[in-house]
Amino acid sequence: MRLSGLFSKLTAAALVFTISAFAYNAFSQELPKQSDAICVGISYGSSAPESIEIKSECGFEIAVFGDTQTEFTHYDLSSVTAKASGASVSLSTKLGGSILSAGKGKKIIISNENSLLKVGNSSYRGKIQLFINSNGKISVVNELSLDDYVKGVLPYEVFSSWNTEILKAMAVVARTYAVRTKLSGTHASDGFDICATTHCQTYGGTTRETESTNNAVSETSGFIITYNGDVATTPYHGSSGYFTESVSSGWGSNAELFPYLTSAYNPYEDYRSISNGKWENVVPKNDIINHVSSYYKSKISGNITDISYERQENGYVNSMTVTDSSGNVFKFNTSSSVRSFFGDLVKSANFGIAETYIPSERATPAITVISADGTYETTNINGYTYVDAQGEKTCSGFESVCVFDGIGNGHGIGLSQYGAKFMADAGFTYDEIISTYFPGTEITILE
Ligand SMILES: [Zn+2]
Repeated sequence: MRLSGLFSKLTAAALVFTISAFAYNAFSQELPKQSDAICVGISYGSSAPESIEIKSECGFEIAVFGDTQTEFTHYDLSSVTAKASGASVSLSTKLGGSILSAGKGKKIIISNENSLLKVGNSSYRGKIQLFINSNGKISVVNELSLDDYVKGVLPYEVFSSWNTEILKAMAVVARTYAVRTKLSGTHASDGFDICATTHCQTYGGTTRETESTNNAVSETSGFIITYNGDVATTPYHGSSGYFTESVSSGWGSNAELFPYLTSAYNPYEDYRSISNGKWENVVPKNDIINHVSSYYKSKISGNITDISYERQENGYVNSMTVTDSSGNVFKFNTSSSVRSFFGDLVKSANFGIAETYIPSERATPAITVISADGTYETTNINGYTYVDAQGEKTCSGFESVCVFDGIGNGHGIGLSQYGAKFMADAGFTYDEIISTYFPGTEITILE
């Protein structure tokens, strides 16, 4: 589909950009045991703290792990403070009494089976690991069981008031996502398995845990999604309307490796009734560039002069060519790169762009008038009044705008959280929801 008449066409192609896709590896690996711990990076890299306090209601068991491991020693304290000093991290009491320290390659392990450990404003089950990282800061890692980890993820991905079956479906998907991330070694060089932000999966310790989400974790304890015996890749997103996007069109991944990440159909998703399920953005065509993500904005010379794009049958735009006023041509061949290009103008890549004219205070007036005197062009429409959603306004002209009209929120690949919610409301069970969004997969219980 081309936006005819919207942008003057330039044919010179000085620069061609092709957006490479996310790469996913699929390879056979042994399934983890249900009792295996997962290590979650709470703080790491250059943004990690130089000093941090850890609190407990009934003391700490503390040890140093490295080439050799010290025995856990009980400290009857309510608080300990870790400080980075040179190439080591040292632990002291609140009054400054030295407890122990760990140099490069060693970890301080803090544990208490009878108490949550409080770090900053959040409380955590399991153990806290502290070690000095390559930025000279203290990496803080929460080591805990897979199910306890999922309890700290679920409240960020669903509403606790939702139907049990969507809570259970999301628990299985989040658990699978964590195991897949651990096996892929995404954060192995950072010294843990998965980070606590949207980069991997949001995790907040026990802070937001609720009874209903914790029950959903317990009722699906150890359940993960597998395909041909391997841990599946299980991305998810907010909403997608009736159709999800395939991983090959969305991220450019090899479709043969992920036959279960195809475009799925769910007629139960009532996207019109949810926030950002059906959205529209109106922008003057010359202002589109001001919304484009900063990466592309810095590459565009002058302004955007032409956009041509193609929508697939499922609605997602996965092929687009953008030309700028110097004749540079930018090519996009995945729906995720198209969505990323448009920045805050789109919520998903499932959209169309239409050109229209709206009354504007700043426009150059030029309209065709049909009157008793015949049809003529005029540029004098100042003073006319019009009514829009905000009320009556005085018109000083019309301007050409682009209307971005779309469905869904997010990358569209894998499970739609709202789609799953509506399926649960319609009486489907968690495993039926999973097999709708990940067809051909199985649910396996970890030993
Ligand atoms: Zn991450």
